[in-house]
Amino acid sequence: MESLWNNADAAAAGDDAVAQRVYSSRLIGRDPALVLHGGGNTSVKTVVRNVYGEDEDILFVKGSGKNLATIERDGFSPVRLDALRRMATLEMLTDADMVRMQRAAMIDPSAPNPSVEAILHAIIPFDFVDHTHADAVVTVTNTPRGVTILGEIYGDRIFTVPYVMPGFELAREVYTMTRDIDWKQIEGVILLHHGVFTFGDDARSSYERMIEVVTQAEEYLDARAPLADSYQVMPTRTMPTGSLDGALLRNLAMWRRAVSRVAERPMIAHINCSAGAKEFSRLPDAAKLATRGPLTPDHVIRTKRAALVLRADVDAAVDQYAENYRAYFDRYTDGTLNCLDPAPRWALWPDVGVVAFGEDDRNAAITGDIVGQTLLAIVRAEALGGWEVLDEEDLFEVEYWELEQAKLARADSPPDLAGRVALVTGGARGIGRACVERLRASGAAVVALDIRTDGAFADGGAFAADNGVLTVNADVTDADAVERAVAMGVERFGGLDMVVSNAGVFPDSEPLAFLSDEAWQRSLAVNLDGHRLVLQKCLPFLELGIDPAVVVVGSKNVAAPGPGAGAYSAAKAALTQLCRVAALEFSGAGIRVNVVHPNDVFDTGLWTEEGIAARAAQYGMTVEQYRRRNLLGTEVGAADVAAMVVAMCGSLFSCTTGAQVPIDGGNERVI
Ligand code: ZN
Repeated sequence: MESLWNNADAAAAGDDAVAQRVYSSRLIGRDPALVLHGGGNTSVKTVVRNVYGEDEDILFVKGSGKNLATIERDGFSPVRLDALRRMATLEMLTDADMVRMQRAAMIDPSAPNPSVEAILHAIIPFDFVDHTHADAVVTVTNTPRGVTILGEIYGDRIFTVPYVMPGFELAREVYTMTRDIDWKQIEGVILLHHGVFTFGDDARSSYERMIEVVTQAEEYLDARAPLADSYQVMPTRTMPTGSLDGALLRNLAMWRRAVSRVAERPMIAHINCSAGAKEFSRLPDAAKLATRGPLTPDHVIRTKRAALVLRADVDAAVDQYAENYRAYFDRYTDGTLNCLDPAPRWALWPDVGVVAFGEDDRNAAITGDIVGQTLLAIVRAEALGGWEVLDEEDLFEVEYWELEQAKLARADSPPDLAGRVALVTGGARGIGRACVERLRASGAAVVALDIRTDGAFADGGAFAADNGVLTVNADVTDADAVERAVAMGVERFGGLDMVVSNAGVFPDSEPLAFLSDEAWQRSLAVNLDGHRLVLQKCLPFLELGIDPAVVVVGSKNVAAPGPGAGAYSAAKAALTQLCRVAALEFSGAGIRVNVVHPNDVFDTGLWTEEGIAARAAQYGMTVEQYRRRNLLGTEVGAADVAAMVVAMCGSLFSCTTGAQVPIDGGNERVI
């Protein structure tokens, strides 16, 4: 493991203790082999002058739930050091009392709650303290000879602490165990099955000691438990390939639906078929290894204790998992706890790889990252004698620890469409783009197709981490391209629940007398056949979707055609008829199909200012009058249409199919 320390960057960060703390905390946060997604914590002890002019010893410790990779100054909680040190001398302290007393000892009441390890940081007699869950170190301790191996690697330079529940109990244990040691003689503290602490007089020495300690464990593993080549690459988040076969993707969608059913909310599923994940899934005892427990206890809130093992009978397998989870809860609950949803958060797919599940794209990605690291740790621990993790009861204690659950708690309820997956055609601009944005704002993950090849659509699909949108370059008149785009979407998010079939063209005005074959065919190809292809290719996945819904963008011209728009009006009328048939045919699978008929949506890119002015002049109106030439005298924008489309995808329309909803400000020919 390389030190990322850079003198120039460190100097630029500022020379006060907290600035240095922020700088080196971020270096730790950047390395997934040290900490993942909010794991680990850091602190610095410094002197702050209060309003009375008195100097106070303050511990700036990472706020609970903050992420080291992105932490800022205000992500640290300033707590009076003497108060924390005094707490370590208590025989007993409940979590609630600990949190309350720590908050009361803060010099800034608006700062976040201090890390659950604040007391432990306080009793380590160095200014800078770094704590990680470094994979290499924890892997070694998750083996039968863990303690012996630590001795072989570090001699007596490292102090070893048996597993104790994090928080006050751990701080108390370390306080008691280290009362008589000379801290200057040791370079770190390793907590079995949990992680490692290093410390120093300045940010650099504490950080570089961490790198050194972890590097030594890595070197030991490389020598005694080298990874096979296939494990060298374990991407947990990759650009979908579009090459997974249809049957496998349908299976994935089935698993996602079954897991969502048990979770009682829609879940996103991320499949990982990388060489490493596949290799792991082929191990003869993969199922046993994947259900033994997590790498470090705080992963349990992300991964649950055990993986689901996929098999032929999908629903029975998921029900069995949920039943086992409830039984585990019943074994250890003290009667005051509420059982979390019993759905698995990751699954082993024998011969294929692994799948991570999450309430949304971001949560699935976090779990996927953790699982990827865990598989490597398991393989190496097996080579060192066996993967040995904490027992169920210890894990339960952490999983149901209120201070851990608080990290997951969200102030508000999830958005309407969280965990659901939508596909939008013509997603680069106009109504399609507005639909993509609205769906994202409603919590859905979105696969956006467009024929354009610039911007996000340039390379046939750009992947943006954590933003929940997959863009795919595809022409809706090309059956293979549509099939591939749908497959990529399912590969990326695990299924498909909603389709907004929007891509269309608005040909130049041409009276029938002069209408060219080419213009006619082009309109039919995009405005009719393109939608048919999208519906056909999406259907196998919509059938496995969660509250599946299709919204097709029609046109006012269906009910009220205009002269010169024969090719457009005829195609949209045929499309509407096709949707009525689809509503009949798809109803058996619970798929709703509705049509929205917009009119005069001027902010779509189909219209230019000059175009609008020309049309207004043609009707003898001002531009302003022309924009609002409807019964309500209102202007209809792409965002208004998108709001309607997204409502039609959602629960408001759960009892409606085969409907045609105008969104045109009112048109007397339509009414
Ligand atoms: Zn920890």
